[in-house]
Amino acid sequence: MVLEGLGKALRQVLTKVSRSNTVDEALISEVARDIQRALLQADVSVQLALELTNRVKARASSEKPPPGGGVRDFLIRIIYEEIRSILGAERNFEVRPKRVMLVGLFGQGKTTFAGKLARYSQKKGVRADLIAADVHRPAAVDQLEQLARKVNAGFYANRSERRPDVIAREAVERLPATDLLILDTAGRSNLDPELIEEIRKCKETFRPDEVLLVLDAAMGQAAGRSAESFHKAVGLTGVVLTKLDGSAKGGGALSAVARSGAPILFIGTGEHIEDLEKFDPTRFVSRLLGMGDIQSLLERFEALEDRAEAEKAARNLMQGKFTLKDLYTQIDSLTKMGPFSKILSFLPGLAGAKIDEGQVQATQERLRAYRVIMDSMTREEMRDPHIIKGERVQRIARGSGHRPQEVRALLKYYEQTRRAAHGLASNRKLRRQMERQLTAGGGPLSD
Ligand code: GDP
Ligand code: MG
Repeated sequence: MVLEGLGKALRQVLTKVSRSNTVDEALISEVARDIQRALLQADVSVQLALELTNRVKARASSEKPPPGGGVRDFLIRIIYEEIRSILGAERNFEVRPKRVMLVGLFGQGKTTFAGKLARYSQKKGVRADLIAADVHRPAAVDQLEQLARKVNAGFYANRSERRPDVIAREAVERLPATDLLILDTAGRSNLDPELIEEIRKCKETFRPDEVLLVLDAAMGQAAGRSAESFHKAVGLTGVVLTKLDGSAKGGGALSAVARSGAPILFIGTGEHIEDLEKFDPTRFVSRLLGMGDIQSLLERFEALEDRAEAEKAARNLMQGKFTLKDLYTQIDSLTKMGPFSKILSFLPGLAGAKIDEGQVQATQERLRAYRVIMDSMTREEMRDPHIIKGERVQRIARGSGHRPQEVRALLKYYEQTRRAAHGLASNRKLRRQMERQLTAGGGPLSD
């Protein structure tokens, strides 16, 4: 497994947390120290490691688990979230007919990746073609041709042409537009003006959908600076980190590139054509920490939090306090949890009622639109909907892509619900019934 050392150390931390009897300052400090050591050993920068562990400490002492969550599992979740946060944004590389241009310095793994990407693409049903634009080394063209043969991909080269941009243009003219075209370019020992010029010219004629920088993970933290300077010089859509298999210090490269803002799309995990992984930061961390366990823990917390929010909304409703924010939470729960599953079970008299499915459908669609409209409101408007008039209605309508009538319909719906809530709150018998429902449904799920 990639970054085995880091994974092992982090799993030990989690075991320590789940075996401890209590979560106190001493344990949190110890755990923070362990995490810091593990990150530094994986070459994550001192600053980043410090920031991360400080956040773990601060959150562990200030945040509270949702009812039924358990403090140990809560601490584990905080650790998971913070480690996940240093791996940057998730971006999906879509396999479809398009043009991909590879750039990078010598020996970073460009040509190897070209072959791997061709295999990856063909496995997903899109034929790939490899284009040899490394004009400086004849051996590079042969290497690419062999790879093309190995994965049964198309291949284009022009051994008598010295200008890579001309080759790129020829390839686009000759190869089918229904394929994924992969342009393998030449590298140099550093990003000098000549290399920049060559890449720019290629980009102009090839007009790629993606410009991917291929970087060797053994560069460690320096990979971040490299990604930044390539991005500034030629513009990137993503980064491929290679040789993560061989590098115990891959954590430095991963976190530094993530911090540069360029999304990491793939990681190379070996010399073989199959040794390629789509980089999914969430899955990557889950695997480092022990996939199955962490996944079910996260899902459990999500369910607990949904319920805590739904309960809060119901409590506010009971007390006659009902803001647009509560309505939003309610709608969110309704649309997320499926047809009227939770909130309605809190409402007396409705739990066992017969509901017309078509009507449910229409209602859910309307509620979904309301949620989108509320996403265009300011915090102030959510707190105090009475200020939403005139120009505000227009702005919210424009921002959410709905008509002003729909915004007004939402405000009307809110007002009706609020009135109903108010009526409910003053009905003592109903109140008590609801309170009983809340307590009955509010026990811990497990633990
Ligand atoms: P280029 O100069 O950027 O085109 O680099 P190459 O694709 O020719 O690769 C340089 C060397 O790195 C070759 O020996 C490859 O086998 C090796 N290589 C490339 N990717 C990986 C990887 O993910 N893991 C390992 N272990 N070696 C790799
Ligand atoms: Mg090459």
